[in-house]
Amino acid sequence: MRITEVEAISVDGGSRNWVFVRILTDEGIIGIGEATVEWHTSSVVAAVDEIGELLIGEDPSRIEHIWQKMYRGRRFRGGPVVMSAISGLEVALWDIKGKVLNTPIYELLGGSCRESIPVYANAPFGTSRQELVDGALGVMLLGFDALKFCPIHTVLEVDDPLLIREAADTVAAVRAAVGPTTRLAIDVACRLSPAMAIQFARAVEEFDIWFLEEPIRAENPEALALVARATTIPIAAGEQLYTRWNFRELFSRHAVSLVQPDVAHCGGIAETRRVAAMAEISYVGFAPHNPLSPVNTAASAHVAMATPNFVTLEYKVEASLPWLPDAAAPWRDSILQTPLELRDGALRLPRAPGLGVELDLETCRRHPARSRKPTFPQQRDGALAEF
Ligand code: MG
Repeated sequence: MRITEVEAISVDGGSRNWVFVRILTDEGIIGIGEATVEWHTSSVVAAVDEIGELLIGEDPSRIEHIWQKMYRGRRFRGGPVVMSAISGLEVALWDIKGKVLNTPIYELLGGSCRESIPVYANAPFGTSRQELVDGALGVMLLGFDALKFCPIHTVLEVDDPLLIREAADTVAAVRAAVGPTTRLAIDVACRLSPAMAIQFARAVEEFDIWFLEEPIRAENPEALALVARATTIPIAAGEQLYTRWNFRELFSRHAVSLVQPDVAHCGGIAETRRVAAMAEISYVGFAPHNPLSPVNTAASAHVAMATPNFVTLEYKVEASLPWLPDAAAPWRDSILQTPLELRDGALRLPRAPGLGVELDLETCRRHPARSRKPTFPQQRDGALAEF
């Protein structure tokens, strides 16, 4: 079997554009993957086209060889655009391999470690305390027993402790609303410095926080480790890191308790599984980052299924955002020919070969990618803030 064609399809996914990859073969088997990277839609489409040229004529069963060609074949490596393109292409190769061998991808990764995939909602979103409280109750009504939210806006490297106190009061209000048994995670999206993150973590420890995601950016694992050592709340990070090399110091410096590689960014299925194995050595849990389309949910779920130290999978709850009213994509589930099955806060993976999901190309065509103007968060003096 030989690869004859590689194509990228960009689709309006509401809060972001989704970029899908299709690899076609001379035997008619087609593999799909996702290469979405927010606000870089046309760049990643171009990267899929350019890197995809390397695949023409290749035997698609040689996944590792092709990955090496895509990654090591270029002296200038890494970054979100190139790595997301490589990731989407690699996932599509696994999809082809599963279809050829008539088996789900997780069977090829060693088989199932569990019966289903526990997920958490990456919601509620809100700019006010009341929006977050109401949103959290709405998420619970959807059947989730675990959720993640951001209670804090922009904060300077050293800022008024009152801001931290207000954020902690928001966490208290959400905890009071959802009761003691709902797992509450907090994602501050890198908005804090180590000093403010430590202040914040200590202020919310009493509310039984499941994990604290990206208190600061993960590019300085030594600084992240400072935060981790100063709190009893498990620290999570990794969504903006690519390849095993970038993750190495996160573990060697004991900067996280939970690692969050994104299959669509970090290098694909095999690379995500490798990062999870690196985490296992340091007794760190694996919780894939996954706010993208259901295609990436399926790819992440296959890795989760076969990974012993998997903890939970991020699950995108479709909703309009207070700051982005057209963020919802009601067609989310219908981009797959058969939607994924979510029951009792857990995903049931289809047993069909490969990824087990197929794109509905008609739905994709009906919702072409559109351009978006991102909003840039600002400090109170107008300076650009971390996002
Ligand atoms: Mg995050």
